[in-house]
Parts: sequence; C-alpha cells; structure tokens
Amino acid sequence: MLTAGEKEIYEQKIKDLRELIDIGKSLNSNLSYATLLDSLLLTCMGRAMVVKAGLFIRHDVDSTDFTLYRNYEGFNPDKSVDFSIPEKSELIFSLKKASGCLTMPELLDDIREISDIKLFTILDPSLIIPIVMKNDLQGIIILGEKITGTVFSDEEKHFLRNVADLGAIAIHNTFLLEVSSTDMMTHLKQKHILMHHLRDLFSNYNGENITILMMDIDHFKGLNDTYGHSFGDTVLKGVASIILKHVRVEDMAARYGGEEFTIILHYIDISVAEQIAERIRSSIEQKEFIYDGKVVKTSISIGITRYIQGKDLVPVDLIERADKALYKAKESGRNRIERL
Ligand code: GH3
Ligand code: MG
Ligand code: MG
Repeated sequence: MLTAGEKEIYEQKIKDLRELIDIGKSLNSNLSYATLLDSLLLTCMGRAMVVKAGLFIRHDVDSTDFTLYRNYEGFNPDKSVDFSIPEKSELIFSLKKASGCLTMPELLDDIREISDIKLFTILDPSLIIPIVMKNDLQGIIILGEKITGTVFSDEEKHFLRNVADLGAIAIHNTFLLEVSSTDMMTHLKQKHILMHHLRDLFSNYNGENITILMMDIDHFKGLNDTYGHSFGDTVLKGVASIILKHVRVEDMAARYGGEEFTIILHYIDISVAEQIAERIRSSIEQKEFIYDGKVVKTSISIGITRYIQGKDLVPVDLIERADKALYKAKESGRNRIERL
C-alpha cells in the first residue's frame, strides 16, 4: 500500500511523462527548423517559468559554430559581440558529455579554457541545457533565473533535460530535411521543394493569396565570360544572399535554375510584394562586387504575378505567367520589374 506522499510522487511522475509524450509529439510534428526552434524555446520557458531564454544552434547547413539563435528572449546581448562558440572548443566537448543540465558554477568547474566560456559569462544564464543526440551536440539552451526567485529543483532539471533530448531528435530530423532541401551553393531551397510547397498551397488554400516572383540575373553569361566562372559563382552567392534577406521565414525563396530564382509569398498584398521586389532589385543594382581591385556591378530582372481565381487551375499556370512577366522585364530593357 502506498503512502499518501508516495502516491503524490507517482502521480506527479505520470503527469510529467504524459506531458513529455505530448511535447515529443508536438516537437516532432514540426518540419521547419525555424518553427521547431521557436516551439522548443517556448516549451522550456513555460515549463521552467523563466522570461529569459536563448538557444545556441548551428545556423547553417555547413556551419561549424554554435551561434545564439535570433529567437532569444529577455537577454540583451551586445550586438557588436559575435555570440558564436566553435564546435572544437572545450566548452562544446564538455557539454557533449554532460549527463544533465548545468549551472554556471558547475560548468566553470569543468572548463579550463576561460575564453571558451566568455560568452556564457556575459549572458550569465542560471541553467544550461545541452541538446544531445547519440553523443552529438545539436544545440544548447540557456535559461535565465526563475520568476519565482527559487533555484531549479532536480526534478525540473531532469524534466528539462528530457525536453531537450526530445528536441534533439526533432532538430536532427529537421536539420537533415533542411540540408537535403537546400541548394548548398546559394543556401536557397531547391526547385523541387519550391514546387512541392506551391502544390501544398494549392491543395490547402486553392492557390488563393499566392504571389510569385521570378528573377533572372541580367547578362550573366557575359559576366562569366569576362571575369571567369569562379567570380560568377561569387556574384551568384551574393545575389542569393540579398534575396534571402528580403524573405520572411514563412515565405520561400528557391534557386529555380542556374541564375534564376523564385520567391513564393503567401498572404502578402500585391503592393507589398512589389515593394519587396523593388528592394531586391535596387539592392542588387547597388551591390559592389570586387574583382582584381575593380568594382563589378550586376542587375536582376523580376516578373511578378498573383493567383487569379478561375484562371489558375494548377500551380504551373502561375509559374508560367510569372515566367512571361520575367520575359517581359527582359524584353523591356532588364533591371526592372514587370507584373502580369
Ligand atoms: P539574360 O539577361 O538574358 O538573362 O542574359 P544571361 O547571359 O544571363 O542569359 P542566360 O540565361 O542565357 O545565361 C545564364 C548563364 O548563367 C549561363 C551559365 O553559364 C550561367 N550559369 C548558370 N549556373 C551557373 C553557376 O552555378 N555558376 C556560374 N558561374 N554561372 C552559371
Ligand atoms: Mg537564365
Ligand atoms: Mg540571365
């Protein structure tokens, strides 16, 4: 027969396990890296009752640093400081083998290389939770002090580490998806992923409120011929990075072909879409690429179109009209935007 105290402990354990199952299901149902990181951070904040939290994560598919992700809350990091921890640092090795969560004094006990821990000293977290899967660190969660003013109990630390372990599986999966769907040269999505996304929007929203921007670098062949293919690649990457900067996480930018790019915007007014296109066009026009000490400039032509009810029956109808708009922009002199 259980005592009342034991019964309470077991009931709490069952409640925690149920909650963990729900958290695991919710985290693993995320396909997007960005939304997964948001929900992981919010889950930890809610459970730990903190208003300060942040995540160190690999930002890019080929990144070798763990960098403070933009979804941090409450911390006020100095914008001039690069909050990146190299993969090969002692801190990362130490967090990889930690069996639970760590406080700053516990971490300081373990690390001899003071420069490794400097970033954490600046942020001064109350709890550090390694996100580990199969002995590999996927990221680090840092939490500020509890709003109750109390310290984290062992049960809370255990629960939070379990949440992070569930998060690790989800991060690993979405990261793999991100790698396999990303064009490694430009860091934009691959064409087939864009087409899949467009088909999804058609089946879920009948295509409504979709705007497509189709872009193509002007006279790129000439640029390759004059400066060489390798410099051409540099320009291509520079143009792609400008495009990416103008796209929200919920929209999608893809490399449609060699030096052709496509953006799908959803629920954005056509006037706003035109402003985005203009910002992209003018940023690319102004960008100065340097070759052999000389400034080289380029430009892009953009075709825009929006879903028309009754006319656009399948995704390719929209793509074809965006392509025609782009062709019109090329025909009308390039470095311009045309809408059809
Ligand atoms: P237009 O203004 O009509 O678009 O002229 P263009 O010269 O850009 O036209 P076109 O589409 O015929 O040329 C595209 C060129 O882009 C041809 C190809 O060599 C080059 N290209 C495609 N992919 C890459 C790449 O990954 N790297 C480099 N450096 N060049 C590429
Ligand atoms: Mg082209
Ligand atoms: Mg071109």
